[in-house]
Amino acid sequence: MKVHENMLRRVNLQAYTWVVLPLVAIGGWFYPLLGFLLLGCMLGAVGVSFFRGRNWCDWMCPRGAFLDLFLGPISRKITIPSFFKQAAVRIFMLLLIFTVLGVQFYLAWGDLQAMGLALVRVLTVTTVAGILLGWSIHPRTWCHICPMGTVAHWIARRQKTLQTGSSCISCGICAKVCPMQLNPNELDKENSDEYSDCLRCNSCVNSCPQKALSFEGRAAVNRQKAA
Ligand code: SF4
Ligand code: SF4
Repeated sequence: MKVHENMLRRVNLQAYTWVVLPLVAIGGWFYPLLGFLLLGCMLGAVGVSFFRGRNWCDWMCPRGAFLDLFLGPISRKITIPSFFKQAAVRIFMLLLIFTVLGVQFYLAWGDLQAMGLALVRVLTVTTVAGILLGWSIHPRTWCHICPMGTVAHWIARRQKTLQTGSSCISCGICAKVCPMQLNPNELDKENSDEYSDCLRCNSCVNSCPQKALSFEGRAAVNRQKAA
């Protein structure tokens, strides 16, 4: 698949899902029960991660789709500070958001409207944060500290990752197209902790001029043969 075809495929898929974000983050203030859709998104991210890592975050997550589609054209697109990738920061964000949500659920327990509104509040605040980070740094900055992204990242740690073949010439093109600012040709290194943040979007696979990247293991086999 050519690079532009891959981009078009992602845009087409994301065009279906992003609309759920304003539906809940704005419509939820008027119809709070819409907030429960957020639980579906959280479960989806975790469920998919058992089989396909963070693939949910690629186009199935409405916020991820929104950030790519709408922040992509206006973002400053500078390097995401390593601060956002630190385990301590990710754990802090996860504990913070689940504590806030847990306390609100405890206070509203039994009142579905109030519980839905609690979910809408969390979604709205985190979306505003995601937009500000997306504009000022990079569209997917939020995705490095998103609690559900962090859970999916942990679950995906044991899974097979993107493989780099011996034909790689370290041109860096794959890193330029990666929406998560990863180094695709380095993800199969043993000491890499980044691979489980890969969205499996295939942008790098389709942009590599050497066809050196693969999720199928073919590239790795080629490298073993060459060694
Ligand atoms: S685009 Fe391909 S050849 Fe270039 S660094 Fe990435 S994997 Fe290597
Ligand atoms: S490493 Fe490749 S497949 Fe993974 S998120 Fe980056 S561009 Fe997409």
